[in-house]
Amino acid sequence: MTTPTYDGPLTGALGALQRRIVACDACPRLVEHRRRVAVTPPARHRGSAYWAAPVPGNGDPHARLLIVGLAPASHGSNRTARMFTGDPSADFLTAALHRAGFASQPASRHRDGGLTLRGAFVTAAGRCAPPQDKPTPAELAACRPFLAEELRLLTKVRVVLALGRIAFDGYLRAVRQATGVDGIGRGLAFGHGVNHLLGEGLPALCCSYHPSPRNTNTGRLTASSLDAVLAAVRARLDA
Ligand code: SF4
Repeated sequence: MTTPTYDGPLTGALGALQRRIVACDACPRLVEHRRRVAVTPPARHRGSAYWAAPVPGNGDPHARLLIVGLAPASHGSNRTARMFTGDPSADFLTAALHRAGFASQPASRHRDGGLTLRGAFVTAAGRCAPPQDKPTPAELAACRPFLAEELRLLTKVRVVLALGRIAFDGYLRAVRQATGVDGIGRGLAFGHGVNHLLGEGLPALCCSYHPSPRNTNTGRLTASSLDAVLAAVRARLDA
């Protein structure tokens, strides 16, 4: 299987970073997984062309909101090549982003489906789909420099929304790596609706449960509770 190349809309240093991400094969277990699921898809995706490569971030290069997820889903972003696109998590999150004014439409089913993020950029702690949605600590550490570099390049970000505890921890580790300040965010707790101020010059950090079916089908995360988090994000951006 040939590794695809980045041909998204981002240019300059962000575009160059996305090209490096897409070409990465540093984690053997994930390289094997992202390709294997592409050749053994479930019936609902049989005949689909899979991306089967690292998924780059996407969105507004002047974003004031940065959304950090866990990692691509095997049959979601790993298939469509776009973060939070083509699976139930994407449906849940994109509808909420649309209600909050951060997305041009309520669904993100295909990479070229016409969605534009408004003042927001979506990325993740890991860029390759992991088995059972569980990247190892070593895989997350290997991927962290990509997030740290995005943090350095997305200079307008004022609020970060971490979707789930792994995204929360991954973001804080990336901030430490990007700034070289080891004490940032140590001891902070993750919780749905919890907000943290990390210090002068750093974005506020807001938390939500991840919009995976595991959370949305059990009622742990509801549309109204995600709307409340995004309303708080909006208020913070508008303040
Ligand atoms: S998870 Fe990150 S570091 Fe590992 S292969 Fe994918 S892009 Fe590279």
